[in-house]
Amino acid sequence: MRVLTADLRAAAELLRTATDVTLLAHVNPDADALGSALALGLALRRRGATVRVSFGPPAEVPETLRVLDVAGLVVPADEVPENPKLLVALDTASAARLGWLENRVATSGQVLVIDHHASNTRFGTHHVVDDTAEATAVLVLAVLDELGEQLDADIARCLYVGLATDTSSFRRATPRTHEIAARLIEAGADPGLMTLLDAHPFAWLPMLGRVLARAVLEPDEAGGLGFVHTSVHRDDMAGVRLEEVESVVDVLRTTVEAEVALVLKEMTPGEWTGSLRARSAVDVRAVAVALGGGGHRLAAGFTTTGTVDEVTQRVRVVLRKSVPT
Ligand code: 5GP
Ligand code: MN
Repeated sequence: MRVLTADLRAAAELLRTATDVTLLAHVNPDADALGSALALGLALRRRGATVRVSFGPPAEVPETLRVLDVAGLVVPADEVPENPKLLVALDTASAARLGWLENRVATSGQVLVIDHHASNTRFGTHHVVDDTAEATAVLVLAVLDELGEQLDADIARCLYVGLATDTSSFRRATPRTHEIAARLIEAGADPGLMTLLDAHPFAWLPMLGRVLARAVLEPDEAGGLGFVHTSVHRDDMAGVRLEEVESVVDVLRTTVEAEVALVLKEMTPGEWTGSLRARSAVDVRAVAVALGGGGHRLAAGFTTTGTVDEVTQRVRVVLRKSVPT
């Protein structure tokens, strides 16, 4: 880890004396964002602080992640105070990624940013930012260690699902990743929870069938390394949760003939949120940034307007320029 000891110390110092803490995850929070916020929130509440966790949109916790909020720390975005004393933003590369709560960055007393995105804009007053960390959960664990806080099963569970999710279930793991996982399991995290997080209702299957039937493979794109793409429209989303929509890219990315996979999701009518994944050679973060988004080298996203064909063409063009020759 490259995070500076001084940054960790400063963050721990800030949290040690905090009496009221607002922890925010990025829009459409995943297991790393929400797990990290809840893990730190649980530890701070145990220390006696008043704690709330929030995000938005969406207005509610994704169903599969509700099991993490054992203490009921999550509050709706409109219940977050106008002037939080201390704001902690987790897994959030820029203030804009806080969505409905973006303005709290300006209205809070102090802002601690804990994140592992290379594109982090360092929008806080304090930063624990390290793009060599495999998950934000790893950085939260480092903060907890610095604070001298012990893990319990509830905290360990939150950190474990973040770590497992962001390493694609330990496919991108170092020996240290497994050491951290071992610590979390010893503290009471149940790895079997990941099976529950990956479970889908039956309605997932016909949705997936329709969306995958529309998938297109373009072996010559992405500098000849292959590009596969599809789109999820409003009517495809009827009757399924966000979790089912988000799962499409995990299937598409397994296409062996394609280095890059793109799923365009019509999250609001006429607006497309793209999920980009690369196997190893292409930096899809650069592609996402060119379209106004961000993320990691092998997993990135953006939101834009236009038709599916227009947006796909924009991605194609950026890909042609960004691919190693
Ligand atoms: P996903 O495709 O799973 O939504 O996102 C993949 C990665 O890209 C995640 O790390 C996510 O935080 C990041 N990401 C997705 N959309 C955006 C965006 O619009 N802006 C930025 N900065 N990052 C994004
Ligand atoms: Mn993350």
